[in-house]
Amino acid sequence: MTEPTFADLVSRWYEENARDLPWRKPDVGAWAILVSEVMLQQTPVVRVLPAWEAWLARWPVPAALAADSPAEAIRMWGRLGYPRRALRLRECAVAIVERHGGSVPDRLDQLLALPGVGTYTARAVAAFAYGQRHPVVDTNVRRVVCRAIAGEPDAGPTTRPADLVATEELLPEEPAAAALASAAFMELGALICTARTPRCGQCPVESTCAWRASGQEAPAGPTRRPQRYAGTDRQVRGLLLGVLREATGPVPHQRLDQVWADDVQRARALAGLVEDGLVEPVGAEAFRLVGDGPSLPLPDLAR
Ligand code: SF4
Repeated sequence: MTEPTFADLVSRWYEENARDLPWRKPDVGAWAILVSEVMLQQTPVVRVLPAWEAWLARWPVPAALAADSPAEAIRMWGRLGYPRRALRLRECAVAIVERHGGSVPDRLDQLLALPGVGTYTARAVAAFAYGQRHPVVDTNVRRVVCRAIAGEPDAGPTTRPADLVATEELLPEEPAAAALASAAFMELGALICTARTPRCGQCPVESTCAWRASGQEAPAGPTRRPQRYAGTDRQVRGLLLGVLREATGPVPHQRLDQVWADDVQRARALAGLVEDGLVEPVGAEAFRLVGDGPSLPLPDLAR
C-alpha cells in the first residue's frame, strides 16, 4: 500500500475540519467565488460574511454590478476597508460583460487579464470555481509549505515564482483533487499552522513536517507590528468616505470639514480619495462618490 502524500493527509483533515463557509458550497458560482476572494484579501472572514451576502443579493451576476454606478459599489463596500477593491471589482464586472458575455472566464490567462485580478485570485477562481489544477498560494499556504517542506519558520511577505513551483509539486495530478488540496492547504494555514501559535499537536502532517522535526520554536513576537489606525490618514479617509457614502448627493465642503479638525491632514486625505478615483469634486465647493448622482453644476451647495 502506498503511503499517503502530503496532499492526501491535508485533504483528509480538511474534509473533516473545514469551516462551513458559504462560498465553499458546491452550488456557488464563479462570480460569487471571485467576489469572496477579493473581499477576503486583507479582511477577516467574519467581516466578509455579511458583506458578501449583501453584495450578491444585490448583484448576483457581473452584469448587474456592471450596470450600476461606481458610487454604489463603494457604498455597498461599506466598512470592509481598502475601498479601491470595490472599484476594481466593478471594473472587473464590466470587463467580464464586455469580453466574456457576462460569464466569469475559466481560462487562467483570461482571468489574469481582468482588472484587479492578480496571481492569487485568478488561480483561486480557476481552482475553486472550475476545479482546475493550479497552485493557489496566499500567505497561509506559503507558511505551511515553507515550514512543512523547507523546514523554515516563515515565508517572505510576497509570493515568488518559486513558491508557486513548490506548492504545485505537492498537488495531486487529478484536477479536482488538486483543487481540494489547494483549499485544504489554505485552511491548514488559517486554522492550525498559524503564524505565531502553530498547533502542531493537531496537525495532520506533524509526523513529516520538516520544521517540527528541526525542533525550532514558533516566532516569539509578532512578525509584523500591528498597523496604527487612530490619527492616520487612513482614519481620516474612512471618516470622509463615511459621510459621502451616507449622502444621497454631493456633500458641501463645509460638511466634510467637520469630520476632522486638522485642515492639512483632512485636505491630504480628501486629495488622496480623489486621486484614487473614489471621490470626485462637484463644482468648486462640493464632493461626491465617483459617478454618484446628477452631473455638474451644483452652484448653490456651498452657499
Ligand atoms: S506540524 Fe506544525 S509547523 Fe508543521 S505544518 Fe503542522 S502546524 Fe505547521
